[in-house]
Amino acid sequence: MSASERTQVNEPHPVVRLATQIYARLLLVGFALVPAYLIGYLFFFQDAALRFENHAFHEIAIAAATLEGLFVTYVTWRCYRSSGEPLLRWMTLGFFGFVLIYALHGAFTGLAHHNIWLFLLYGPASRLAMSVLLLVGLLSYSKPADPVNRRVDTRYWLAWVMTFLVVDVLVALLANSDLAGIFTVRVMESAALVFSTLNVTCLLLRRIRSPLMLIYAISVSSFALSSLAFLLGKPWNHMWWLAHAIFAGGFFLLSYGVVQAFLTTRSFATIYSQEELTRRLAEAMARTESALQELQRTNQTLEHLASTDPLTGAANRRKFIERVGAEIARAKRDGAPFSLLSLDLDNFKWINDCYGHQVGDTVLQGFVQACLDAIRPYDGVARVGGEEFMVLLPKAGLDAALAIGERVRQATASTLFAREIGRSISVTVSIGISQFGRDGNTIDAILRVADERLYHAKRCGRNCVIAV
Ligand code: GH3
Ligand code: MG
Ligand code: MG
Repeated sequence: MSASERTQVNEPHPVVRLATQIYARLLLVGFALVPAYLIGYLFFFQDAALRFENHAFHEIAIAAATLEGLFVTYVTWRCYRSSGEPLLRWMTLGFFGFVLIYALHGAFTGLAHHNIWLFLLYGPASRLAMSVLLLVGLLSYSKPADPVNRRVDTRYWLAWVMTFLVVDVLVALLANSDLAGIFTVRVMESAALVFSTLNVTCLLLRRIRSPLMLIYAISVSSFALSSLAFLLGKPWNHMWWLAHAIFAGGFFLLSYGVVQAFLTTRSFATIYSQEELTRRLAEAMARTESALQELQRTNQTLEHLASTDPLTGAANRRKFIERVGAEIARAKRDGAPFSLLSLDLDNFKWINDCYGHQVGDTVLQGFVQACLDAIRPYDGVARVGGEEFMVLLPKAGLDAALAIGERVRQATASTLFAREIGRSISVTVSIGISQFGRDGNTIDAILRVADERLYHAKRCGRNCVIAV
C-alpha cells in the first residue's frame, strides 16, 4: 500500500475532524481558565479575612522563584543566541526584568510591617515590567532574526540590566513617597492585567497556533488571571497566596516551552504543529517511496548492464558462471542432469580480415540470434570471449545436449549472416559438450572438459559437435 493510499484509508470524515478540532480548542480554553475557577471558588466561598502570614515561607518561595527565574532567563537567552528570534530576546528581557525586580519583593518581606509599600510594590512592578516586555515580544513575532553580532552585544544587555536596577530604585522612591498606597499598587497590578490580556487578545487575533505559542498563550492567560487574583486579594489572605500560585504555574508552563525550544529548534516560531508534522511526514514518506521505486528501477538497469554483453545482448561470463553455480546447486538437490556447450566460431579472424570488424560484429549478433532460435527458451547463451560462447542446458543429459548442439551447428552453417547490412556471410561453429556429474562436479571441471572437446572439434576439422 502506498503512502497516499494509507493516508486516504486513515482520513476521518470531515465532520468528525471538525468536531475534534472544536473540542480540542474548547479543551485549551478550559485549561487556560483553570485559575479562573479557583479564583471564583475563593471569591464566592472563602472568607477574605482568613490570613496565612508566614514570612519565612514567603522568603523561601521567592528565593526559589528567583533562582528558577535566573535559570529560565539563561536558557531563553541561549535559545535567542542560537535562533536570533526577536520574541526570544524580549522573553529573555521579560524574565530577567521580572527576576531583578521581584527578588526585592522577597528581600523586603521582613519590612511588611514597617514599610508595607516597599514590600508590596515590587510584586506588581515586576509583573507589569514582564507583561510589557512580553507584549512587545509578541508584536515582534515572526520578524526576521537578529544579526549575530546583535545577539552577543554585551552593551545592549548591560543597558537593560541598568534599566531594571533603575526601576528598582524608582519603586523604592515611589514606596517612600506620597504616592505610595493601595491605589498605586492597584494601578500597577491593573496595568499588568491589561498588558497580559492584550497579549492574549493579540495571539488570538493573529491566529498564532504553533505548539510553543499555545503554551505561551496559556502562560500569559495565567499571568493575567494572577493579576486579577492579586487585585481581588489582600496581603497574606488566601486569594493573595492563590495569585502567587497562579503566577508560578504560568511561569513554570512558559519555562517548559522555553526548555522544549532549547531541546529542539531553539526557536519559538519555527517549531511545527503536530498537524504540520504529520503532513510533512506523509509527504516525506511519499517522496521516499518514489525514490525507492526509482532506485529499484536503476538497480535493475545496473544489474542488467553488469550481466549483459553490450554487443550481442547475451549474458556475460560473470552472469554465466553465476547461473552455472545455481544450476549445480539445483542438480545436487534434485539430481537432474545439466550440460554445457562451449562454442567457438570457425576462422572468424578471416571474416574480420575480409569484411572488416564492423561486419564481424554484425555476424556475432546474428550468431547469438541463430543460437537463441535453436535452443530451448530456458537455455541461456553467454558470450565468454571475442567469438567464444557458452550455452547452459538445464535438465539436459548428454544425448539431449548433443541434439541441441547439433541444431545450433546446423542452424549456424545454413544461415547467411549480415544480410541486414547487405552482405551474405557464411560461418560455421565448433562445439564441445560436457555434462555435470559425468564430466565433473565443479564449475571449473565441466568448463575445462567442454573446452577440451571444443578444441577436439577444431582438430577434427571444425563445424562439428564433440560430446565424448
Ligand atoms: P579458429 O577457427 O581456430 O577459432 O580461428 P579464429 O580465427 O576464429 O580464431 P582466432 O582466435 O585466431 O581469432 C578470433 C578472432 O575473433 C580474432 C578477433 O579479431 C576476432 N574478434 C574477437 N572479438 C571480436 C569482436 O568483438 N568483434 C569482431 N568483429 N571480431 C572479434
Ligand atoms: Mg577463439
Ligand atoms: Mg574461432
